[in-house]
Order: sequence, then C-alpha cells, then structure tokens
Amino acid sequence: MTERLPQSDPALDDALVEGVLAHRLRPLAKTITLIESQRPDHQARAQRVLERLLPASGGAVRIGISGVPGVGKSTFVEALGLYLIEQGHRVAVLAVDPSSSLSGGSILGDKTRMEGLAQRPEAFIRPSPSSGSLGGVAEKTRETLLVCEAAGFDVVIVETVGVGQSETAVAGMTDLFCLLQLPNAGDDLQAIKKGIMELADLIVINKADIDPAAATRAQAQIRTALHMLRPASPNWTPPVLTLSALRKEGIAAYWQTVCEYRRSMSASGEFEARRRHQALAWMWELIDAGLRSRFRGHAGVKADLARLQAAVEDGSTTPAAAARALLGHLDGLGAQRERAAPN
Ligand code: GDP
Repeated sequence: MTERLPQSDPALDDALVEGVLAHRLRPLAKTITLIESQRPDHQARAQRVLERLLPASGGAVRIGISGVPGVGKSTFVEALGLYLIEQGHRVAVLAVDPSSSLSGGSILGDKTRMEGLAQRPEAFIRPSPSSGSLGGVAEKTRETLLVCEAAGFDVVIVETVGVGQSETAVAGMTDLFCLLQLPNAGDDLQAIKKGIMELADLIVINKADIDPAAATRAQAQIRTALHMLRPASPNWTPPVLTLSALRKEGIAAYWQTVCEYRRSMSASGEFEARRRHQALAWMWELIDAGLRSRFRGHAGVKADLARLQAAVEDGSTTPAAAARALLGHLDGLGAQRERAAPN
C-alpha cells in the first residue's frame, strides 16, 4: 500500500500534481503517502502539492459511514461502491480509525473485505493512516479526501468505527453522515445516548434479510426517537432505511436518498454552507493544535510546567494564576523572535 517516496525535487512534485490531475492512481497513492509522512520536509512538500491540487477538488459527494464493528460497513461500502461504478461513478473509500495505531491494523487494512471493489480500476481504497492521534489521522484523511477529488473521484466514502470521537471527526468532513444500525433496539438506544444519532443525516438498518419484521420494528423505533431530537436542518428529517448489504437489496434506494439530500440541501444553500463551516472549523482546529504544540514545546513552559502543576495540585496556587504564568511565556516568545530575526 505504502509507496516509496522519491528524494525532494520540484520536478517530482510537478509529476505528482500532473499525475493526480490526469486521474492516475500511482501518483495519487504517492501523494497520499507524502501527506501521511511525519517528516517535516515531506509535510512541507505535501502542503505545496495540495495547494496546487485544491482548485480541482470539491467535486465529490462526501459520504461518512459509521457503525459498530460487525454491523456490515465493509459489506455495505462494497455493495454501494460496485453499484455506483455500474452507474458510471468513480469511488474512493477512506478510513478514520485512530485505533489502528494501537492494534496495528485498520478497518480497511484487510483488503479482502472489499475484494470485489478493490479489483476495480474505478475504485480507490485507502486504509486509515497507521500512526497518530485522532486529530492527526482526521487531518490526513481530510487532505486525502481533497486529493481524491482532484483525481476525479466523484463519490468519496469515509468509513469509521462506531466508537469514540472518530464519528464527530468524520461527520465534520463529509456532506452526509450515515449511521448503520443492526435491527436491534438496544443498539439504537446506545446510539441516542452517545449523541451519535444527532450527527446522522441518514440512518440505515442493515441485515434486514435476517429478520425483516425486526428491521421494520427498529425502523419505527428509530423514527420515533428521531422525533425527540431537534433536526439539524429545517429542510431535512433524517430518513431511516432498511436494507441488506449482503444481498445487495436496497442499495439503489439508498443512493436515491443521498441524491435527494444533495438536491434539497443544495437548493437551500445548506450544502455549501456546511462545507464552508467545515473548512473554517478545520482551520481553527489546526490553530488550536498548533498553539498547544508551540506552548508545550516552549522552553520557558517546559521549565515551569512541573512546578506549577504541583502547585495547582497542592493548592498553593490557583489554576487561573498558573495558567496566566504559563501562557505569559508565549507572549515573551513574540518579543524573543523579533530580537532574533535579522530584519
Ligand atoms: P463491519 O465490521 O461493520 O465492516 O462488518 P462486515 O461488513 O465485515 O460484516 C460483518 C458480518 O456481517 C460479515 O460476516 C458479513 O457477511 C455480515 N453481513 C453484512 N451485511 C449483512 C446483511 O445485510 N445481511 C446478513 N445476513 N449479513 C450481513
């Protein structure tokens, strides 16, 4: 999966940009490897390449898919992907799975789970970056999504596991966030409690083939539960669909619902507004992360941190006073920089 990266050379970056814009898969994979690299020189190159690709991005429908392990995400994504390819689309599948850095595997790590899709030239499947925090993984997935769009993929599916904060991250980078459920009321209540239901623009009850009556009951229960939540948009009540990913039943109706969502949200201006909001939120996330990392890396903070933390713990200083003292080092940083700068 991981491509070997060439030495730094502007001509090679030109080749990456041209290759991606020509919709070629090898340059696409190499660009993503550059994005995922932890090396500062690679990161700088990745940003330059990304900036050049940005004008060609934005053209895909971005779909987020979440659900507990075993609900049928891979089976569903494969069935949907193959259906869309038949309809003439090109489909990229990405994953946000911060647990992969702990387990060493990724939700998409085992490609045999989407064997049919992986073999198609109209599909591109990329597992979650294998290292980093959720923030890091999410950032790289967002950038990868933009590169896939520049490479001509008009549907991008971002898959995540139904645990932890990764769902919020995926809902924050996609146009439509879809929650997969089992025909089982216990799970539905869990999703409501965790606040995941509020994120969902579309809910799918999978494995309806096993017990169609149970699936219909779950559908009614979830619809009732959704009525208790305030809808995110006055123009869209999240539909609850039942389907069987294994038997490929209900896939066309699913895609039709996605298209209706896009039409309805575009007509009201919410589709673009969501993207604008996401881009700004992303910028602020990066600023927050950057500030935090500069703060922690500052020599003055490093020198004082242990002492002030201990003082807060034993009550000899207040949290507010300690925070003020530590943040004060950042103010000093600007002055030191000015003195150090030649001009
Ligand atoms: P994931 O962990 O959410 O990606 O789930 P998988 O796609 O790996 O599916 C888990 C298991 O459920 C596999 O054995 C699938 O064959 C099975 N499965 C998935 N979708 C369906 C379905 O619609 N009906 C039935 N009966 N089984 C399904």
